[in-house]
Amino acid sequence: MRLNHFFLPECAFKVPGRVYARLIEWNRSEYALFDAVDADWFDGENASSLGPLTSGRWLSLSTGAPVYAIEINSRLGEDLAALEWLDFWSGRLPTWLELQIFEDEHGPANLYGNINGPAVRVRFSQAGITPHVLSSLKRVTDLSPYAKSGDELREALPADSVERVFVLDVGQGAANALVTKSKKVLAYIDLGAGVLADTGTWPAAMTGICLKDDPVVVLTHWHYDHFHAANKFTTALNRTWIAPFQRIGPGPQSAMASSIAQNGNLLIWNGKGILKKGAIELERCTGSTGNFNRSGIAVWVNGPNHQDDPILLPGDAGYSDIPSLKRSVRSITSLVVSHHGGRAPGKAPAKPNLSTARAAMSFGNKNSYKHPLAPSIAKLQKAGWLIGFPKPVQDDRRTEDRGLKGLGTIDLRWSGSAIGSYPCNCGCSIEPTQ
Ligand SMILES: [Zn+2]
Ligand SMILES: [Zn+2]
Repeated sequence: MRLNHFFLPECAFKVPGRVYARLIEWNRSEYALFDAVDADWFDGENASSLGPLTSGRWLSLSTGAPVYAIEINSRLGEDLAALEWLDFWSGRLPTWLELQIFEDEHGPANLYGNINGPAVRVRFSQAGITPHVLSSLKRVTDLSPYAKSGDELREALPADSVERVFVLDVGQGAANALVTKSKKVLAYIDLGAGVLADTGTWPAAMTGICLKDDPVVVLTHWHYDHFHAANKFTTALNRTWIAPFQRIGPGPQSAMASSIAQNGNLLIWNGKGILKKGAIELERCTGSTGNFNRSGIAVWVNGPNHQDDPILLPGDAGYSDIPSLKRSVRSITSLVVSHHGGRAPGKAPAKPNLSTARAAMSFGNKNSYKHPLAPSIAKLQKAGWLIGFPKPVQDDRRTEDRGLKGLGTIDLRWSGSAIGSYPCNCGCSIEPTQ
């Protein structure tokens, strides 16, 4: 199995002197995340006798590349060094940067050489990247060579009907299983996990995900907390993945894309509108293309009875980024609350008058983003959902609420869905507990 050492359970690393980095998440004075690769290493490979790096050479190189994540998280104001940096740089950062890194316990950032930590505290100075290097970085991280037509993507989606949706407890992350009446996992919508500062939110009781029926994986967007479970249960890397075209970074993001392309089958959707087959509809989100959360794929899942409304899995998108929801033409049976209960612009879908209606939230206990955020809860309440804060009251289920089995996996179903347990002898632990 080819996967980058960044994703292994643990590994020692050296703090790099200089990295090339892409800003892959940013939110005002709260948060910034860079996806980075060692600059000296990259320059060396780019100057090799084989000529400048091509996407073909990158495919095999990047799973062995020295890659890093650099995170600045003010923790809603608790981390003063981070807050000060974010307050100053907020809104002024270019997308691509060269960073010179210095270990410094008083610095604003956490540098990760491994997705599970521990981090090294650093400060850094920023500079622009020369046009020659920038064009190489853009070329090797470009996902266009993997783009497929709508027909090819539909071909890869399963045609069977879906009986239930399991919102898996993966800590501070997202992973959902679409399960048939005969208890097969047809597809996963995201296969994420708690990562970086939230690695500890991963449930020890999650011993395996069900991969025996060759499920397809739909990735809503390229954030680590939506794909990292596949690096824990690596058979998932052998599968067909459908992922949105997004401009990814040269670090862990690109290493993950290469790993899927080498071990399995990476199919990129760079289209618009809705792709439908069987019970599944993929809808392209229309938020700003620079924003991973808001420009990915939202998924609608239709139940076994045609008259039932779908279950909405929006990933981390804003509700207003999903065109068919924004036009208010769709009602739902249940939803997975967008962005782990964090920021999601737009109006939340209305609660239907159904006993099966649930607002499922996937987040880890004491996560570093303090999800769920009070304004997100208020927005759901305004849409008619009976949601408690901080504890659930009626319509809400939270993966952080772990039962005796140590897992908080949530069962979503339609009025006509078959109920009952998920007997499986493959060693997986995806059975819902609430
Ligand atoms: Zn995200
Ligand atoms: Zn997320």
